[in-house]
Formats: sequence, C-alpha cells, structure tokens
Amino acid sequence: MKGKPVADAITIRAKEEAERLKQNGVYPKLKIVRVGEREDDLAYERAAVKRMETCGILCEVLTLPLDIIHESFIKELKAVDEDKTVHGILLFRPLPKQINENEVKFIISPEKDIDCLNPINVAKVLEGDKSGFPPCTPSAAMEILKYYNVNLKGSNAVVLGRSMVVGKPMAMLLLKENATVTICHSKTNNLPNICKKADILVAAIGKSNMISEDFVKDGAVVIDVGINIDDGNITGDVKTQECLNKVSLITPVPAGVGSVTTAVLAEHVIKSCKQINNK
Ligand code: NDP
Repeated sequence: MKGKPVADAITIRAKEEAERLKQNGVYPKLKIVRVGEREDDLAYERAAVKRMETCGILCEVLTLPLDIIHESFIKELKAVDEDKTVHGILLFRPLPKQINENEVKFIISPEKDIDCLNPINVAKVLEGDKSGFPPCTPSAAMEILKYYNVNLKGSNAVVLGRSMVVGKPMAMLLLKENATVTICHSKTNNLPNICKKADILVAAIGKSNMISEDFVKDGAVVIDVGINIDDGNITGDVKTQECLNKVSLITPVPAGVGSVTTAVLAEHVIKSCKQINNK
C-alpha cells in the first residue's frame, strides 16, 4: 500500500476546497511553529510547506530560538493563535525542557489545533466526534486503509504502541470504524502471539525491523508507522521483505504512512478554515 496515490487523492480534494474557499474570499492558512533547528522537524517542515503550496494553502513558519524562556514562548504562541488570518497551527514537539508542555497544550484553540495537542481534541477522538482533529499520522494510516478498501468492521486489530500521537489515537480511530482493538506496549506479555491474531496489525513502536514474520498472521494487513534510522538507512518497525510472503497488504517504509501525513495536514487546515468561517 504505497502512500503516494493516497496523498495525491487527498491533495486533489484539498486543492479543490482551497480554490472554493478563495472564491468566497477566505484564504486558508497554516502556521508552523518551530523551536530550534532539529533535522527531523526541518525535513517535515519542508514537506509540509511544499504540500501547502501544491494545495494552494498559505503557509508561514515562525522559528523561535532553542533557549527561549517559557513565558516568551507562551506569548508568541498566543499571538499566533489570536491571528485571525491563521486557521491551523502545527507546533513541532518535543519542546525544549524549559517549556512546560502541560500549559502549552491549552494555548492553541481546539478549532486551530490541527494535530491534536489540545485535550479537547483528544477527547473528541475518544468520543468519535468528527468535528475534532485526530493527529495527522494515525489519520494518514486510516486514509491508507480506506483508500485500499480494507474492511475494518468486525476485524481484529492490534496496535503496537500507546503514545498520544500515534498508538492511542490509532486505536480509537479503528474502534470508531468498528474494529475490535487490542493495544500493546513494551510491557505486553506474549507479543508475537497477540500480533499473530491480528487481521490488521499497526506497528508504531520505533524499533527498527522488530516485527518479523513470526508476528504476522497469514493474510494480515500491516501498517508500518515506524520511521527509524538504522545504519544510515530509513527503516520501519516491520521486516517488510520477510513478511511479504504472509501479508495480503503492507505499507512500505519509506513511501508509506509518512508520505500521506502532510496531505492529511492540508486537509485538516481546509477543515479548520471551513469550520471557523462557517463555509
Ligand atoms: P513513542 O516512543 O512515543 O512510543 C513508542 C511506543 O512503542 C510506546 O508505547 C512503547 O511502549 C512501545 N514500545 C516500545 N518498544 C516496544 C517493544 N519492544 N514492544 C512493544 N511495544 C514497544 O513513539 P511514537 O508513538 O511517537 O512513534 C512511534 C514510531 O512511529 C516511531 O518510529 C516514530 O518515528 C514513528 N512516527 C512516524 C510518523 C510518520 O509520519 N510515519 C510520525 C510520528 C511517528 P511503552 O508505552 O510501554 O513505553
């Protein structure tokens, strides 16, 4: 399940919607807030800026110094949130230690919180309330499953990983689509046995090539969310080549889930813009 056709389809939708909004005098805009110059933030930022350009969405980047004090950071973020021309805010994390994320997550208004930092959006994911914004990565994984017509209703889904940005929201999104979901983590006993029962296996653990064919049921659909650097190469959490004989469908790394996230980001900006402007 390559990500590109999925991303292309979402991009076309977002572009059409951006055009429609502009004809109504509304210019959708994303603001990216980055503290410091982490290489993975910069790589994602470049991809996001390019995607917004393709979709006809305005995009600005606010870069703040790594040693910015908490109070100044809050002031800057509040100013971005209060800017009426901005519809969606993407804040790169983790933030430096001096900044208290527990305060930060309440600063971005839920309507502009397109990557699910604000607890109100987290609650909406739990409730299955589609007016909110689940994080872009699990949303991208769901878009892939939808695009490739994977049946989720009644399926047995196993999610490896329980982070707030991938594992937990992924489990909730699968549950919303009527899958029966098991969440696994580093303290789970008999991991291969649990995984082997999965019709849908989602790996989001950040351990290069950990998931071998021994974890995979015949005919399973596997989503590899992992992005790891292993010996200079980008690898997933799944041993893709080894599992190819067993799976019915699998996402590659790179060119899988990661290539769909900026398209979802664009779609979220359009959605926030429409909701804010009642268009
Ligand atoms: P975290 O480190 O926050 O979470 C990892 C999760 O995996 C934890 O819940 C942890 O369990 C669990 N885990 C770790 N080791 C094992 C193990 N041996 N067995 C079972 N479970 C284990 O990572 P993220 O959720 O942020 O990211 C996960 C992966 O997804 C990473 O590779 C990351 O790079 C990638 N990613 C990809 C994106 C994309 O666009 N494709 C975007 C975001 C992330 P515990 O809770 O017990 O510690």
